[in-house]
Amino acid sequence: MTDLATFRAETRAWLEANCPASMRSPMLEDDTPWGGRNFNPANRDIKVWLERMASRGWTVPTWPQEYGGAGLSKDEAKALNEELQRIHARPPLISFGIWMFGPVLMEYGTEAQKREYLPKIARGEIRWCQGYSEPGAGSDLAGLQTRCEDKGDHFLINGQKVWTSYADKADWIFCLVRTDAGKKQGGISFIVFDMQSPGVEARPIKLISGSSPFCETFFTDVKVPKQQLIGQLNGGWEIAKRLLQYERKNISAGGFGGGATVEELAQKYIGLRDGALADADFRTRLTLHKMEAHAFDLTVKRSAEDARSGKDVGPTASILKYAVAKMNQERRELAVEAMGMAGLGWEGQGFDDAALLETRAWLRSKGNSIEGGTSEINLNVISKRVLGLPD
Ligand SMILES: Cc1cc2nc3c(=O)[nH]c(=O)nc-3n(C[C@H](O)[C@H](O)[C@H](O)COP(=O)(O)OP(=O)(O)OC[C@H]3O[C@@H](n4cnc5c(N)ncnc54)[C@H](O)[C@@H]3O)c2cc1C
Repeated sequence: MTDLATFRAETRAWLEANCPASMRSPMLEDDTPWGGRNFNPANRDIKVWLERMASRGWTVPTWPQEYGGAGLSKDEAKALNEELQRIHARPPLISFGIWMFGPVLMEYGTEAQKREYLPKIARGEIRWCQGYSEPGAGSDLAGLQTRCEDKGDHFLINGQKVWTSYADKADWIFCLVRTDAGKKQGGISFIVFDMQSPGVEARPIKLISGSSPFCETFFTDVKVPKQQLIGQLNGGWEIAKRLLQYERKNISAGGFGGGATVEELAQKYIGLRDGALADADFRTRLTLHKMEAHAFDLTVKRSAEDARSGKDVGPTASILKYAVAKMNQERRELAVEAMGMAGLGWEGQGFDDAALLETRAWLRSKGNSIEGGTSEINLNVISKRVLGLPD
């Protein structure tokens, strides 16, 4: 047997013995394994599955072992992924640390910072949030004003962030701050700190979908140790942009999926005639959507292969992010349309839970073309950085 075949056989046996049965079923939103200091899921198997996978370094299989990973080669990581998919295993950990902060820390952090944070990210011990947007700085991110002053033995942070996803639940934040008011991009630094530091306050904001996934976040005289600055003072803009590439790539790879397929909903609510969906116009639009979604899936797979073979994420992540947002919004529109009156419920009798989830997912999808950079901004990145068009 080749080394890879042996690895696959051992992986399969280990997963068979260690993946709890309840972790081999589709994940419900409430079951999302975010990790963190207060991670206490109702289903204990979620925690067991995380601990077992983390003990092998398999929450971040390609990260080096000294940082909590398993140091797997690209082929081994692919085999592990295939074996996980084969048994329909849930992800053991969903983490902004893995998606966004970890990869940039690997590139820009000091050795001490990597050893401090990466193993904790890999084990799911810290839940992170992202402090980028401010009331006056969203698309024009470099206009951010949160002030960070050098006080000799520490930094002092004052200001406000907004749309900070899960700030009320996160343990730590990776944050962009202004360290030089005289320069725009050149006056920004990248810093991390504990959300329990005195002076940090997170106030949840409600979305039209009814949930409160994000917050207004206020900083009043927050003291931050100097060793928590990542990269150079005033060198944060480069790290910020790099992190956005990882964010956009990961949003695209993960998609915004979940719930029933549009075909299932259409069959249930529109019904079949002669074995095909009874509404010919809807059928045509659904088919076009499915063809586009299939082509997109293949593109994401190709891009994942590129990443495994060491190709940089780069600005092409904007293409994927733009497309995945459009695709999910189309899908959610089709789902609600297929459901007819049943898709218009908010709560109460007359609407089943599954239908209400679809309606709320449709409302939630409105944010897909905003989060992680708006579609217009991604189109700007594509035209300038990918196609090389002039300003
Ligand atoms: C679900 C969700 C989760 C989020 N999570 C986080 C988070 O965790 N952390 C965080 O920091 N932020 C987060 N955000 C914020 C998000 O990054 C910003 O909302 C986004 O960058 C847009 O900024 P803005 O809301 O200020 O809109 P604006 O920048 O004011 O944009 C308004 C409109 O103008 C358009 N526009 C602006 N500039 C241009 C231009 N130059 N060319 C063409 N069109 C332009 C935009 O595309 C948009 O349509 C989240 C947002 C959402 C919806």
